[in-house]
Amino acid sequence: MIYADNAAATKISPSVLSAMLSVLDDDFGNPSAIHDFGGRAKRIIEEARLRVANVIGASPREIYFTSGGTESDNWAIKGIAAMCRKKNKNHIISTTFEHPAVLKSLEFLSRNQFEVTFLDVGSSGIIDPLKLRQAICSGTGFVTIMFANNEIGTIQPIAELAEICRKADLIFHTDAVQAVSEIEIDLRTLPVDLLSISGHKIHAAKGVGILYIREGVEIDKFMDGGDQERGYRAGTENTAAIAGIGIAMQNTVETRKNKFNVTKIRNKFIDGILSFGGARVHGDIERRLSGNANIGFDKIDGELVVLMLNRDGIYCSTGSACSAGAVEASHVIKALGFDSIKAKEAIRFTFSEDNTIDEIDYILQKLKEILKSRR
Ligand code: PLP
Repeated sequence: MIYADNAAATKISPSVLSAMLSVLDDDFGNPSAIHDFGGRAKRIIEEARLRVANVIGASPREIYFTSGGTESDNWAIKGIAAMCRKKNKNHIISTTFEHPAVLKSLEFLSRNQFEVTFLDVGSSGIIDPLKLRQAICSGTGFVTIMFANNEIGTIQPIAELAEICRKADLIFHTDAVQAVSEIEIDLRTLPVDLLSISGHKIHAAKGVGILYIREGVEIDKFMDGGDQERGYRAGTENTAAIAGIGIAMQNTVETRKNKFNVTKIRNKFIDGILSFGGARVHGDIERRLSGNANIGFDKIDGELVVLMLNRDGIYCSTGSACSAGAVEASHVIKALGFDSIKAKEAIRFTFSEDNTIDEIDYILQKLKEILKSRR
């Protein structure tokens, strides 16, 4: 098999797996229990919290474990909105190409007296900070803009956007689910107030995530129940998955260094694709995550190509995994200015350090055959 769908899910790394297995085998105590065995589980969680905090330049008190990126986004957006409502700040700013976890949280708020301005990302898939500046008004409560897009991989000028919000006294949340594995984030200097992370995009488990909440930021709690996560996110902690995400975050410091190799492989792939003719790459080619190549072939349905490649053991996707299964055209590709027909031509390849040049050659050869049979 050739796996080129790393934006959908990554392989659990050996060190993460070993940490998780050790917890599952030996440390099944409830972290809230007052006996020593519970204390061990609690310590495992606190060690993971410290690891995460150290990697992103935060204090452990600012790290909250969740069930994944979706929960982190929902909590950040709805939790901050609850505080903004009290201050009569009912305007939110976001973008048209956010992940559904953000877009649907915002839709929920729009049905509940909030007004949302969605900034247009343009054909590059990169937000112009000037547009954010212009959208801010006296009623604006907070801003949520993703760090890197999950479909086209474009990286946003987050430092600049966050700085604009800091100067305007606005809370700034970013969904860093796709970015954190390869972009160094130092929250001592980056004026981001809330940041979402997901385990299965960084070689840890599915069903675990992180929400960073800057000390002093007022947010409503997410789950009612026990006092876990300082009373903000009730529910017995998934100790094994948390131990794993702690290791995975620490691993990003080293694995980040491989991104130049991944870029090299990805660029070879893009060069090959563009040499076919009638092909395009969606979004800015330079300012994107190292492994991402979101492409389209004129007049050829993306889903068909994905299924044909699947027969040859090549795994990629048409858009975000969360919208696979749905036949609608990608909202991200449409946000770049393409119509629905063109948007349905999109195919996303997301490579990792495990992919090889030989694999790229093989995919290109198979794509060539597919194009020949369809044109
Ligand atoms: N945000 C982005 C940018 C994503 O790519 C994803 C998953 O695809 C999520 C949020 C949701 O994360 P999870 O699958 O952990 O709920």
